[in-house]
Order: sequence, then C-alpha cells, then structure tokens
Amino acid sequence: MHEIGHFLGLRHTWGDGDCSFDDFVYDTPGSDAASQYNCNKTRNTCLDDIYGIDLPDMVENYMDYSSGNCQNSFTVGKAAVMQYVLHYYRPNLSDMKVIENYADYKFSQNIEFYPNPTTGKITITSKSDNNIIKINVRDITGKLFKSIYSIDNSTIILDIVGSKGVYFMELLSNNSRAIYRVVKL
Ligand SMILES: [Zn+2]
Repeated sequence: MHEIGHFLGLRHTWGDGDCSFDDFVYDTPGSDAASQYNCNKTRNTCLDDIYGIDLPDMVENYMDYSSGNCQNSFTVGKAAVMQYVLHYYRPNLSDMKVIENYADYKFSQNIEFYPNPTTGKITITSKSDNNIIKINVRDITGKLFKSIYSIDNSTIILDIVGSKGVYFMELLSNNSRAIYRVVKL
C-alpha cells in the first residue's frame, strides 16, 4: 500500500523532514520523523491543528514507516489526492501531482468555516481569490448527501439537514479541492 500511495502522489506522513515539513495533506497529523518501525500510538512530535485537535503521530497511516501490524488507513485527504491523481494524471505523474497537491493545500489554508461541530448551519468563506464554486456533502458511508453551487463566491451558508453524526464536506474551486470532517450535533 505504501508504494501504491507514492505512485498515486502521496508523500510520507512526516513530509521527509521535521515539524516544519508537511506532506501537503491537511488532515494528516505532523510528525518530526518516521516512526521507528513500531506502533507507538501516543507519540506526538508536532503541534497540529486538525479540525482543532492536536492529534498524535499517525502510525495507522500507510505512508508512515510504522509496523505493518498497525497500518490500516490513509486519511480522507490522502485518499482525495490519490483519487485526483488516479483520475487526471495516472498516465503522466511526473511533475503535475506536486503542483496540484500544492494548489489543494493552498486552497485549504485559505478556507474558514464555523461552527464545527454544528447544529446544522455552517458559514464557509474562502479568504483567497480562489473561490468555492461547489460544495458536496457526504455521509460517513461516502453517500452523496447534498450538493450546492455557490452563486456569489464569497460567503456560503451550508445547512446540513440530516441526522446527527459525522459528515464530509468537500469544497471545490475550479482547480482545487479541500475536504473537511464536520460533526452535526
Ligand atoms: Zn516511502
């Protein structure tokens, strides 16, 4: 799985450097180095702000060097990168993937949304001129729950009218995407 991850555009979870290096996937917890081939689930080397949480180093991620015994997942963000690369760039992965990953990263860095968790409504703003043109909301099973198009590109109010639980909110501009986990209370 690790090498397939590389083939489909993924970097190592620790970004091949200390805490100042990133894997350009916003929902992967930072780490200052590869795991020491173990399954230490409490090691937390970098301060993260992922959905407001400082998560421990992700030994479950196939893109770490942790033991295969504890590897069982990619993050949603890493899966999104792979799907994107597979769809658009599989015939020629060379340089394009880096640019596209970086575009997604920059896009995600300029998104502001609140509140999360929410009782229903979420206010979403893109602080850069890379406007949000479409929002897809999927439930925990991946089923498309709602799609909305942005008219004026500035601030969008998303209303999740559905049962309580976890949803995935995918924001699309014309060249980037960002995916966030939101919780409906
Ligand atoms: Zn590797």
